[in-house]
Amino acid sequence: MKFKFTKIKKSVLISIEGLVQGVGFRPFVYRLANKYKLKGNVANRTDGVIINLYGEEKLIESFKIDIKKLAPPAAFVKNIISENTKSEFVDFKILTSEVNEQITEISPDIAVCDDCLEDLNSQNHRVNYPFINCTNCGPRFTIVNKIPYDRINTSMSEFEMCEICNEEYHNVLDRRFHAQPVACNNCGPTYLLNDECNFENILDELVAKIDKGKLLAVKGLGGYNIICDAKNNSAVLRAREIKGRDGKPFAVMFKDLNAVQEYCKLNLKEEEILKSWQKPIVILEQKKDLAQSVNTGLNSIGAMLPYLPFHYLMFEKLKTNAIVYTSANNSGNPIISDDDFAKNVLENKVNLFVSHNREIENPLDDSVVKLVSDDIQIIRRARGFVPKQVYLNRTVEGIFGTGAELKNSFCIGKNSSAILSQYIGDLKNLETFNFYEQTANRLFDLFKFKPKVIACDMHPEYFSTQFAEKLNANNINGSKISILKVQHHHAHIASCLAENQIDEKVIGISFDGTGYGNDGNIWGGEFLICDTKSFERFAHFDYVKMPGGDLAVNEPWRMLLSYLKNYNINKIDSLKCFDGVDGEAYGLVSKMLQNNINSPLTSSAGRLFDAVACLLNLCAEQSFDAEAPMRLETILDKSEIGFYPYIYNNSIVSFSETINSVINDLNTIDVSRISAKFHNTIAQIIFDVAKRINKETSIKKVILSGGVFQNKYLLEKSIHNLNKNNFEVYTNRLVPPNDGGIALGQLVVASNFL
Ligand code: ZN
Ligand code: ZN
Ligand code: FE
Repeated sequence: MKFKFTKIKKSVLISIEGLVQGVGFRPFVYRLANKYKLKGNVANRTDGVIINLYGEEKLIESFKIDIKKLAPPAAFVKNIISENTKSEFVDFKILTSEVNEQITEISPDIAVCDDCLEDLNSQNHRVNYPFINCTNCGPRFTIVNKIPYDRINTSMSEFEMCEICNEEYHNVLDRRFHAQPVACNNCGPTYLLNDECNFENILDELVAKIDKGKLLAVKGLGGYNIICDAKNNSAVLRAREIKGRDGKPFAVMFKDLNAVQEYCKLNLKEEEILKSWQKPIVILEQKKDLAQSVNTGLNSIGAMLPYLPFHYLMFEKLKTNAIVYTSANNSGNPIISDDDFAKNVLENKVNLFVSHNREIENPLDDSVVKLVSDDIQIIRRARGFVPKQVYLNRTVEGIFGTGAELKNSFCIGKNSSAILSQYIGDLKNLETFNFYEQTANRLFDLFKFKPKVIACDMHPEYFSTQFAEKLNANNINGSKISILKVQHHHAHIASCLAENQIDEKVIGISFDGTGYGNDGNIWGGEFLICDTKSFERFAHFDYVKMPGGDLAVNEPWRMLLSYLKNYNINKIDSLKCFDGVDGEAYGLVSKMLQNNINSPLTSSAGRLFDAVACLLNLCAEQSFDAEAPMRLETILDKSEIGFYPYIYNNSIVSFSETINSVINDLNTIDVSRISAKFHNTIAQIIFDVAKRINKETSIKKVILSGGVFQNKYLLEKSIHNLNKNNFEVYTNRLVPPNDGGIALGQLVVASNFL
């Protein structure tokens, strides 16, 4: 008898959840199925894709491994479920997607891919085409105005595809199969300089201007940008004038990795983040000076690589390999995306105004990140990250987290995911608040979101809180929206609990600048015991006065004076740091402190850093947010291991001895060592208080959140101290530790009260 060997065939239905739509996932599945000679089909569905497979059992297993391992860069496979079926197929097909109202995943914008850069040289209809894209790259969130993400629901709808593009769009074997923004020189959007729309001419003019040290306003992906040579100080200074921005460092776009390496120090992990498909601004240590005014004496550079085809084409011709690339709005205002508005406010201020005719549906800044403890920390969450969902371990449908007042971003709950808005900005500014309202309405619409519960800050005067009340008042659907007020620092810790899916009591250490406390004071140096539902304030930094309220935030010398008076330190006359302070103002603030006029109490860690930075004569007045602590961190001597004494009494951490010791050190050791000793002290306090809480409660999980933890040295030192002693430390990685992450925390706290 002849033995006949048959391979075992099998049928399965695979469901994949995650971000798999609009990122080239179905064509990828198609190619993978072909590779393993599997038959069946793939189709979009509400929360992902489903794949029918029929073929050899072993090969189906290999397929399943590859699907996670080889998925397109911007795709995110959250879950794969496989079940056996009995269906048999003779070929593999991509099924056209039915219009599905439930689809809520929209891909973030993706930097231009290497294949498209190749095509810029080789594809006849796309030679030097500045809007080239494919299923693996290109605009997404910035062009979509409705879901599902299909061309007719984007700002590409007004461009009719030419025959070639149309063919590519419908050919499953083409890289541009179902690439919604597909376009070419014959049919797509164009750049515009006055009436000129010949790109080569525009590019020549633009490049010549930059190399001559001129200033340009250019429409980009999510808004208008100011561009100039980053090595030309007078150009950079003029950019500062236009933006009305005094000292905040500008982001720099470098031609390529070599150029980054010439000016910045970076390790392999930082290189990886820099080159990732998100192409964020990465804060790197400076190696060589650019124009002085780019980062005004700080030792870091916000570096990024080109992410639009336009950027590559521009650098091909530019002499300089580094340009300032910053949003064109005034400091504090929202990013500019409207063409008429841009023309009105920018054209006369710059030497060249370049636009394009692809509408920006969702204005979007560049994202800012840095590497901390060998992992990414997001400082500004926008392009490349928004609107990627944060997956949670609970349902949050219908919850709206309004966010904080500063660095605002809000958050909406869909099923068991949180969708955070792009970075909005500081709501105190009317324009920014209008942008907030527009964006909220826009995202409600886009994601078909109806608020049932609003979670907002406890601060009675926050604009976001007022917006919550307005939403409630305008709610015409009858059913009342409930409003829940969430304490600011509880929200910080909850944001980190949420992204780490932790559901138990933790030691929550939240250090930041400002947050309204339960007692009406301004909190910011907080040691909490909490879960996502409630918190208990275990300990906090000493309350000191903030003479002049918000003015004390801008003028660190006021805080220093407050600390000195609070602790009866009488060496004020010997301190050089008050030399530059106006005598009249000094007298006034002294009186305010003495008579308790307009001096709210604060336990803010941020204000303590401000005061110490001033004491070291680094920054008496801030020209941008967090300048003082940044300058303090910049000068720090990492080899110094000493620290200062502090007092812990009755759940209060006070700094009389710390500040006295700093003053004693001023005449004997270098400020770089004093700064290190001060940082070490704060890290030590974090560890000591965590130990106290652990002794009482046995809790081992520690969450560190709040803007102060953007201080890389402090965070790494604290994590190191805690880990060494068997604490488990968690920090924000998916959302910012600063107030940009607050909305996620608010949403998760509110989910306990659904
Ligand atoms: Zn591409
Ligand atoms: Zn075309
Ligand atoms: Fe905060």
